[in-house]
Amino acid sequence: MIRRKLVAGNWKMNGLKRDLGEVRAIAAAAAAHPQVDVAVCVPFTLIADAVAAAPELTIGAQDCHAVDSGPHTGCVSPAMLVDVGARTVIVGHSERRADQFETSQDAWAKAAGAHRHGLDVILCCGETEAEHDAGRAERVVQAQIEKSVPDDASPEWFTLAYEPRWAIGTGRTPSVEDIAAMHAIARAKLKQLVGEERARGIRILYGGSVTGKNAAAIFAAPDVDGGLIGGASLTSEKFVPIIEAAVEVSR
Ligand code: PEP
Repeated sequence: MIRRKLVAGNWKMNGLKRDLGEVRAIAAAAAAHPQVDVAVCVPFTLIADAVAAAPELTIGAQDCHAVDSGPHTGCVSPAMLVDVGARTVIVGHSERRADQFETSQDAWAKAAGAHRHGLDVILCCGETEAEHDAGRAERVVQAQIEKSVPDDASPEWFTLAYEPRWAIGTGRTPSVEDIAAMHAIARAKLKQLVGEERARGIRILYGGSVTGKNAAAIFAAPDVDGGLIGGASLTSEKFVPIIEAAVEVSR
């Protein structure tokens, strides 16, 4: 099965209305390269404006609540995201696991809730530096996948992102061989959970200090179906070369 590359930006807590020009420039690059899929996950406050600025581009959110509505001060439901035009959502990001103490069970509930409302989901997993150094990365990632991937996960709406926490925003990346090995482990775990056919079609993104310089080598690795990009997605100058790297390896 051919899996189209996906390059997804995660703007984190960055971006004001004055930055919408970057969204427009990224949208133009995405339109020029229809061989690959591109998404930009902006802060909640920018979703509606980003959708208006770039209606053809997939605009997403970086989190959502698991339930539709109710007494959850400060939270945003999947229905609200759909209402403002978001088409995808990141769940289980390691920064939310670290800062908001979210668990894999939380990520599972959010993924299921988002899917109920027709959103695509990018679900993150990845070990900490201490877990990596202790040789526990494989077991940690397998357990996260087991606890967070919904039973009905399928390529039409579900994407997994492997993001070693120690590589996020640090300028450090695992070797391409180590990335490929972890992606193979993740795909094997997906097979156990959702069956061979769906697991073969589900995209697995790599995230953690991807740049225009290292993207092509990472994206060319087996079982790597694109990237989840933080810092380098904030400007079109840095993000477009990553989109182009995905195009290059898709030929
Ligand atoms: C991320 O936040 O998902 C991420 C991969 O960040 P960065 O690209 O900055 O390491």
